[in-house]
Amino acid sequence: MYETIPDNPYLLLTPGPLSTSKGVRNALLRDWCTWDADYNTDIVQNIRHRLVEMAASRPHDYTVVMMQGSGSFSIEATLGSVVGIDDKLLIITNGAYGTRMVEMAEILDINHVVYELSETQAPELLHIADLLDQDEDITHVAIVHCETTTGMLNPLERIAREVKAQDRILIVDAMSSFGGIPLDMYELGIDFLVSSSNKCIQGVPGFGFVIAKRSELLRCEGNAHSLCLDLFDQWQTMKGSGKWRYTSPTHCVRAFYQALSELDDEGGIEARHSRYCNNQRILVEGMDDLGYKTLLPRHYQSPIITSFLYLDDDFDFSDFYHAAKKRGFVLYPGKISQADTFRIGTIGDVYPADIERLLDVVDEIS
Ligand SMILES: *Cc1c(COP(=O)(O)O)cnc(C)c1O
Repeated sequence: MYETIPDNPYLLLTPGPLSTSKGVRNALLRDWCTWDADYNTDIVQNIRHRLVEMAASRPHDYTVVMMQGSGSFSIEATLGSVVGIDDKLLIITNGAYGTRMVEMAEILDINHVVYELSETQAPELLHIADLLDQDEDITHVAIVHCETTTGMLNPLERIAREVKAQDRILIVDAMSSFGGIPLDMYELGIDFLVSSSNKCIQGVPGFGFVIAKRSELLRCEGNAHSLCLDLFDQWQTMKGSGKWRYTSPTHCVRAFYQALSELDDEGGIEARHSRYCNNQRILVEGMDDLGYKTLLPRHYQSPIITSFLYLDDDFDFSDFYHAAKKRGFVLYPGKISQADTFRIGTIGDVYPADIERLLDVVDEIS
């Protein structure tokens, strides 16, 4: 006997896991064996191939390593496998995910320096240039593309240009942007880009993936001080056969494959980006009409997730949250110390009509 689980009672307006389509959830309903070509070749290798095609205009120079666990596992695998014992890492941080990389560097004993900003400040290009100029030992730079803590979109293009001009290796946490914001790793000179199954590709949680410049990944053998989170070793097993070292999350990989097809059907990354931008624009304009101001100025804001300030001193987020949830929308608490905020995500299987319905709900419960 089993209980039939009812369909989603609410939309997740969160940074992930997020609301997925029926097609993606339906793809979870079959079991797969991990040693057979109908999984390894037809699904895993196909996904790896599609991801490099999406990420870089010279796909042959890049490869993909998929890694079990949530997105942070892939970030940790990357930092631990890429930055060698004689290297030095500059981490630029203006939020919780940048700070998580700093924690990882500390625990992994990676030689590193930090350019730390407040959660509402964007990195200064001149300062980055100075840091690199003045410290020749810095070999690698790590930056978060969309800092999901606030919704800030960091100026990746300009930072990448500076890092490349100074000939350093660039690692990008594009967890919450890849698949939802167009970028070209080749054009920008990104060496390692990390994302996961449950963000803008709109799959379910269970694994992360690292898109790597092949020539740089080839230099990472023996760096990792972890058996499981060794990116190079995972790649060696995966590259020819599509096999994972250790159990692979078969159902969620198959769901991701479906999610990639749905991304194609939508019209690819450009089309998805424009849907997310529409969602976010309608949200911000509607919320503004209801008196809710955004934490960030418009030019810092990504289309992924938006931080709103509390309406007034009497605003009770917990009441607001539960009232919205009862009416079909799960919102997200804020994560910063400087101001009282909450967040609303505009990614996932979410459309402008959903945002219009949300605005009616916010109006009703405010
Ligand atoms: C979601 C996210 C991560 C990974 O978080 P997990 O909880 O480990 O999946 C990392 N960086 C950013 C910017 C994210 O949005």
